Order: sequence, then C-alpha cells, then structure tokens
Amino acid sequence: MLDQGYIIVFAISAVVAFGSAWWIRDRMWSRWCDRLDGRGEDAVRGPNALACVQRRWAEDLETIRREQAMARHITEERVRQSRRILDALEDPVVVIDREGLVLESNGTADTLAHCTGDQGTHRLRLGDVVHNPVAIREILELARGLTDDSNGLRRVNFSSVDDQQGPVRDFEVSLRRLDDTGRILLVLHDTTREREIARMKSEFVAKASHELRTPLSSIRATLEMLESGDLEDPEHRTEMMAIASEESERLARMVDDMLDISRIEAGVARPRIERVDLGSLVGEALDGLRAVADRRSIDLRVMIADGGLEVEGDRGMLNTVVVNLVGNALKYVPEGERVTVEVAPEDLTRSVVVTVTDTGLGIPEEDLPRIFEKFYRVSRYERRAQGTGLGLDLCRNIVERVHQGRIGVDSRIGEGARFWFGVPASYASLMAA
Ligand code: ADP
Repeated sequence: MLDQGYIIVFAISAVVAFGSAWWIRDRMWSRWCDRLDGRGEDAVRGPNALACVQRRWAEDLETIRREQAMARHITEERVRQSRRILDALEDPVVVIDREGLVLESNGTADTLAHCTGDQGTHRLRLGDVVHNPVAIREILELARGLTDDSNGLRRVNFSSVDDQQGPVRDFEVSLRRLDDTGRILLVLHDTTREREIARMKSEFVAKASHELRTPLSSIRATLEMLESGDLEDPEHRTEMMAIASEESERLARMVDDMLDISRIEAGVARPRIERVDLGSLVGEALDGLRAVADRRSIDLRVMIADGGLEVEGDRGMLNTVVVNLVGNALKYVPEGERVTVEVAPEDLTRSVVVTVTDTGLGIPEEDLPRIFEKFYRVSRYERRAQGTGLGLDLCRNIVERVHQGRIGVDSRIGEGARFWFGVPASYASLMAA
C-alpha cells in the first residue's frame, strides 16, 4: 500500500518535473529568439520561433541586397552620366599625377592622343596628349608647384607639333589642383581659330596700310611737285593732276569697300531688304556700264528670262555686286571681246542666278582659289587695269552673308571667265513658278 503511494507520488513528481522542464525550455527558447530577432512584442514564441527568425533574417538580407544593388546602380549611372558630359566637352580634359601619368581622360583627349577607348587610359602619358616637349616640361613644373603651395589656376600656351594631326593647332592649358594626393586637372582649350582670326586681322591691317600707301604716295608726290614749282609745263601738270585725281578716287573706293566689308563681317551692316526684280536691276546697272563697253569696243550682251526673277534683298548691295562683276569683265577683257550677262531662275536651288561670261584672258588655275580674298589681284593683270583687290571680297560678303546666296567663278586661262551668283528666290517668285 505504501509502495503504491510512493509510485503515485513519484509519477506525479515526474510529470510535474517534466512539465516544468518543457515550460522552462520553451521560455528560454523564446527569449533567445527574441534577442536574436530583436522585434519585441511581434516575436513568435514557441518551437517555430527559430524558423521564423531565420525567415525574417533572410527577408532582411534580401532587402539589404536590393538596396545595395539600387545604390550601386545609381552610382554607376551617375558615373556614366559624368563620363558622358566629359566626353561631350569639345575641350580635351585629363587628370594627371605629378609624374605626368594620365589617370583620367575624356573622349576628346583620347582622340588627341590617337587612343581608342578600349586601350584604357592607364597607359597614356601627358606627352601623348600634349605634343610639345617644352610645354610638357612647363606643365609638369607648374603641376608640381601647384601640389606644394596654392590651389590656384595656372595657364600654359603651346602649339601642338603632332605630325599625325596635320596643320599646327594652338592650345591654352589650364591646370588646377584636384586634391591633396597631387592629382592635377588639365583642360586644353583649342585657340587655333582665335589665333587665326587675330592673325587675319593684323594681316588685313598690314595689307590695307600697304595698299593705302600707294595712292597716297602718288598724291603726295604730285602735291610736292606743284609746291616746288616742278610742274610748270601745263601738259605735264595736267597729266600729273589726272593721275592724282585717279589715285584719290581709288583711295576713296578702297576706303568705302573696306568699310562696307568690315560692317558686313562685323554683322553691323543694316541691309534694307525689299522685293527686288533682279532682271530690271541688271538691266538698269548695264545701262550705266554701256558707255564703258563702247569705249573699249566690247560687245555687251544681256539675256534676261521672262519672270520669276524676284528676290528678297538690298537693292543697293545687289547693284554693287552686278556692277563689280560686269565692271571687272569690261576692265580685264581685251578690246573687241564679248561680255554676256544672263539672269535666270534656277529651279534646283530655288534661286535667281546672274551669270557674267566674258571671252577674255581667263584666270590662271593657281589664282582661282584665292580670287575672292581681300586685296588679291592676279599679278599678271595688275597693269591691265586699276583696282583695289577688294571688289570680289565685297561681292562675296554681300551675296553669302547678307543674302545667304552663293557666288563662284569658272575659268580656264585663255578661255575667258564665267562669274556667277545666286540669291534665294522670293516667296512670290516661287509661287508663280
Ligand atoms: P580689282 O579691284 O583688282 O578688280 P577684284 O576683287 O574685283 O579687285 O578682282 C580681283 C582680281 O580678280 C582682279 O584684280 C583680277 O586680277 C581678277 N579678275 C576679276 N575679274 C576678272 C575677269 N573677268 N577676267 C580676268 N581676271 C579677273
């Protein structure tokens, strides 16, 4: 009986002990999971807690991975965008270290270095981009100075002496320190065009002074002779006075042409644009030139198409072009030759074209490309007629800059010359066509 009582007590104790152990294990398990999970009240308790924590960890890991991928994508896109901007710059841009090793370069710099993109920039040196040993030395010296002292901007001018690039190019390099590691940003600005313009300006001034001096000297010589009484002989005096008068006219023409050209080139000419019938304009201009043609026994012919000859333009300026081209033909062809002026619409280019063809001496092949340059005169014809060498340049400016037209010449030596210009037809002319 006693034994049975023991057994019952033992059994009850065993059940209680087992239950307590189970309960304690569950509590500890849940607490441990809570600690790992860190979500407090939402935490799942019980035997499934570990699986739950595992799942949450996996979810968190996935979120972190997604955020990292997004951040990487954004960074890469920003880098690509910066690269695109750098590559779009017309100026070559490079980052170098103190030894002149190129660390970064944009597309323009790579082109300058004859480097294809897949070569990578790590092999480039400053000398591949700056093709001038003296400039390289100067840049490196400045770059080293920049890293040591100030953060300022330095500039170096140099001419590129790269055989592969054809004509010499001028650059201005600006250097700026990027950071304390000694990286220097170089921006190369191509100044070839600016220098060319400066050169052309000073060349123009030199040529203009030279051309103005000739008639001035002639006028001054006549005045001096008059003053000193060297022109006592009336015949000689008349002759010298006529020369001085011609020279002063030439001087005035030259100054007028120079002013007109510089106004057009500077964009300050104020053309009075109106509807102009090029047929009537040419007809009237030729009436004024017929006396010159007759004096030199030149057969001056004109062929004007019926209608469709209207353009939008400045009447005075277009008249200058016609008078210059026909005047040249009358000046340079030998006596007894023929000059034909044609005016006709041209469907292909939708313009009205004026052609001046002569049966004169023609223009030597080597002079043709330069014939529209300022002060350019065919040397072998200089004695045939007086001129300034500015007429054709003025014509080109009027036709191309003011009227957006085209002007040209075809000629072979001994076979005469054919000068032509075309101006866009007016809307009314196009509609009538
Ligand atoms: P210029 O005042 O000397 O006539 P232009 O600019 O009008 O100046 O002409 C430039 C040069 O072109 C002339 O000096 C002349 O040598 C040449 N030229 C122009 N028209 C003709 C032509 N019809 N035939 C031959 N040479 C011409």
